[in-house]
Amino acid sequence: MSVSEVKLVVVGSLGLDTIETAREQRFEILGGSASFACAAASFFAKTGMVGVVGDDFPVEHRALFERMQIDLHGLQQVPGKTFRWSGVYEVDMNTRHTRSTDLNVFADFSPALPDGYREAPYVFLANIHPALQSHVLDQMTKPRFVAADTMDLWINTARAELAALVKRVDLLLLNDSEARHYTGQHSLIRAAHAILEQGPRYVMVKKGEHGAMLFSREHIALMPAFPLSDVLDPTGAGDSFAGGFMGALAELDHASERAIRRAMAYGNIVASFGVEAFSLEGYQGLEREQIEARMALFREMTELHV
Ligand code: AMP
Repeated sequence: MSVSEVKLVVVGSLGLDTIETAREQRFEILGGSASFACAAASFFAKTGMVGVVGDDFPVEHRALFERMQIDLHGLQQVPGKTFRWSGVYEVDMNTRHTRSTDLNVFADFSPALPDGYREAPYVFLANIHPALQSHVLDQMTKPRFVAADTMDLWINTARAELAALVKRVDLLLLNDSEARHYTGQHSLIRAAHAILEQGPRYVMVKKGEHGAMLFSREHIALMPAFPLSDVLDPTGAGDSFAGGFMGALAELDHASERAIRRAMAYGNIVASFGVEAFSLEGYQGLEREQIEARMALFREMTELHV
């Protein structure tokens, strides 16, 4: 495998998550926006991971990424502690409270892209400080399609850096409350259009178990979430959705609105496997055929017959 084969570059966090749901608690399991995004993308396209871990990062996590054929030339390991995050879910599994965020080695991280990554056509700037996301984008030669995710924390603490980034991306992903918070508009249509005014061609608004909406200047596309009877851990659903979306887009190698909608459906389906288990467990042993089978079911479910 050579670095030059990387079609999609993903930068984001890699961490150890402590998660409590009404049913179960897990201590320091593999998480982080880049972990979920790369795992989901790996079903579709050669993905290169950009991030940092400390010297306490368990070797089995690295081995898992390798088994998933994720390129790790952009993953640095430095002295210090790996990023840690802890959260607790309410019984509805939709409401989450962050207990703690310890940036640790991410506090001084300055990503330097390996040569082969700079020419990659697709870039996903997963959730991490917007200045780091911009720093990665600065090093890309001429990406065909750039998507970025963000979160409330950066809207509150790094708004200027976020606004500078938003101008440079093709697609911005955020959840409904973040879209409202960022723009001050309650209507999601107005909020999305306020963001489109700032530069992106597309805005994707995630609505948790209620699916997602895609906005362009001319159109709106609705995407329900795949219905599941057992959600074990929704952590990383948004990152998986975005990673699956970008991986599928890189595979289609097309950025028409039709390709974007199709990729969005794939992101949705891959993420549905992720939330059926903790950490990346839902992806271990998962085969492309299972994704396609669920996709076929999803097509049937969303057929309006009108
Ligand atoms: P999501 O459920 O899509 O919001 O993603 C949750 C993942 O994001 C967890 O695995 C966390 O490790 C990671 N995460 C939480 N807070 C941050 C943060 N401030 N910066 C980067 N990653 C984070």
